Amino acid sequence: MTPSLDTFRITDVHIHIQPWKDLKPGPLEAMRRGKEKHWDFLMQLMEDPKLLISVLDKSGVWRVGLVNYVSPDVMGFTDSTNTFVAKYAAAYPERLLPYGGVHPNYSKNPAADVDRLVGMGIRLLKIHPSHMMFPANAYTDGLAGLAAIYKQCEARGLPIMVHTGTSIFPGARSKWGNPMELDDVAIDFPDLQIVMAHGGRPLWMDEAFFILRRHKNVWLDVSGIPPLKLLEYFPRLAEMADRVLWGTDWPSPGVKDLRQNIEQFLSVALSDEHRRAILESNALRLFPAGDFA
Ligand SMILES: [Zn+2]
Repeated sequence: MTPSLDTFRITDVHIHIQPWKDLKPGPLEAMRRGKEKHWDFLMQLMEDPKLLISVLDKSGVWRVGLVNYVSPDVMGFTDSTNTFVAKYAAAYPERLLPYGGVHPNYSKNPAADVDRLVGMGIRLLKIHPSHMMFPANAYTDGLAGLAAIYKQCEARGLPIMVHTGTSIFPGARSKWGNPMELDDVAIDFPDLQIVMAHGGRPLWMDEAFFILRRHKNVWLDVSGIPPLKLLEYFPRLAEMADRVLWGTDWPSPGVKDLRQNIEQFLSVALSDEHRRAILESNALRLFPAGDFA
C-alpha cells in the first residue's frame, strides 16, 4: 500500500520563487509558455508568501527551498534577487528557506558577499553554470572569484546548489550542465556541501550518479525529473538514498503540481525507509529545523 503523504514532514528543496518581474523578454516568454492560464496567480505568488504557504498547506509540504541566483546576462536577475528572497522568506522562517547567489564576474568582493548573504539569513548559495556563463569548475581555469565563493561557503557552512542538466531558456549554455565538473569542486572543497540539482537530466545521469557515489559531500536533488521515471533515470537510487533530496522545480516549465509529484513519487518502488529519507530526514540534516534565527 502506498503511504499517505500526510505522514511525512516534507521538504521540497527546489522551487522557484523569484522576482519574475526582472526577467528579460526571452526568458519571460519561455517561463510563461504553457502557464498562460495561471500566470496572474503565479505573478501574485512571487510577491505574497502567505499565498505560497496556502499552496504548501494544500499540497502537504512543510518546507520549501526558494531558488534564486544572479544571472544578469541570460535571465535578468541581479544582486537584488537576494534582498527579494530574504524578505519573502522572513515572513515564515521555519518553512521558507531562502537561497541566494553571488556572481563572480559581478561581485567586487565575493567572500564578503557570501558573508553578507549569511547575515541576511540565506540558507544556500545557488550556482547556475548554464545561466551564469561559466562551468562550475571555472576557478581551475582562472576564475578566482569562484574559488573565493566556494571557499567562503565552505568556511561558513553554507551549502551550495549547482544546476546540472540542460536548460531551455534562450541564451542558456547547456554544455556547462555536465555534472563531471563537480568532481573538481568536491575534491578541492571537501567540507563544502554540494547539492547537485536535477541529476544531469536528461543527458548526464551516469555522470551524476558517479559524482554522487564518489563524493560524500555531494547530494542529489531530484527536481525536474518526472517522479514516475525516477528509477528509469537512476536505477540504483536506493543505494544512495541517504543523500537524495526531494525537489520538484515547481513552477518551472513542465512541473504543474507539488502534490501530484509527491503522490507519484510515493508510488515508485522504494522502501518506506528510503521514502522517508528522501522526503524528510535528509533535508533535515542539510537544513536543520529551527536553525533560522
Ligand atoms: Zn530549478
